[in-house]
Amino acid sequence: MASPPVTPAPGTQSQSTNTATRSEHDRSRAPRSVLSCGQTGSCPKFGPVKGQVLRLRGPGGFLNRSVRGVVRGSSVYLVPRADGELVVGATQEELGVDTRVTAGGLWELLRDAQTLVPGITELEFTEAVARLRPGTPDNGPILGPVDGTDGGLILATGHFRNGVLLTPITADVIVSYLVDGKLPEVAAHFTMERFGGPMNVGGAS
Ligand SMILES: Cc1cc2nc3c(=O)[nH]c(=O)nc-3n(C[C@H](O)[C@H](O)[C@H](O)COP(=O)(O)OP(=O)(O)OC[C@H]3O[C@@H](n4cnc5c(N)ncnc54)[C@H](O)[C@@H]3O)c2cc1C
Repeated sequence: MASPPVTPAPGTQSQSTNTATRSEHDRSRAPRSVLSCGQTGSCPKFGPVKGQVLRLRGPGGFLNRSVRGVVRGSSVYLVPRADGELVVGATQEELGVDTRVTAGGLWELLRDAQTLVPGITELEFTEAVARLRPGTPDNGPILGPVDGTDGGLILATGHFRNGVLLTPITADVIVSYLVDGKLPEVAAHFTMERFGGPMNVGGAS
């Protein structure tokens, strides 16, 4: 099935023979460009899913392994670091481009984490952050060329909750496409074409 026409993203222009990328500082033209900017900057926002995480600090050995669980239907994890830091995460919120740290998000994380490990309330609170995960309609990544650009604009995005985990295979797939001009079989189900309907690469915000 053919993909819909592509509308250039604010930070990316695509023509049939080459592509041009534009950052805050410069503009460059190349036969092929890989778009891999997650949910940041002027990249297309396929479906940002906000995640809030908080960090606590306690005596070494407070927790000596990661703990994961589902509390009131929400998954929560506690990951101890070697320096005594304890990472508690993560919320999953579909609020568009919203990176505010909220009282409610932190309260839910602490409430659920405390259910798993009651002693965390004694630890020092050190930091809270909110970031956007690059989501897609089926939460699978989008890999490969955008149709209508002669392979000039290649997507490597939409990794949702697994972008770190999937970094090596994503790199392999994209390098393979750049070298051979063919997408490896393993990526066949992850092209943009699977969405069938319009997915305006540049129009979302
Ligand atoms: C709270 C939270 C916890 C997570 N935990 C995990 C986990 O445990 N395991 C896991 O696998 N995944 C996890 N993820 C998901 C993972 O972080 C993402 O899937 C991954 O970061 C997506 O990678 P990316 O390279 O597509 O985008 P990003 O990591 O957002 O990287 C995009 C980069 O592109 C740069 N950029 C943007 N615009 C431009 C431009 N115009 N020019 C040049 N550079 C540009 C940005 O500065 C940025 O460095 C988590 C996400 C969150 C929010």
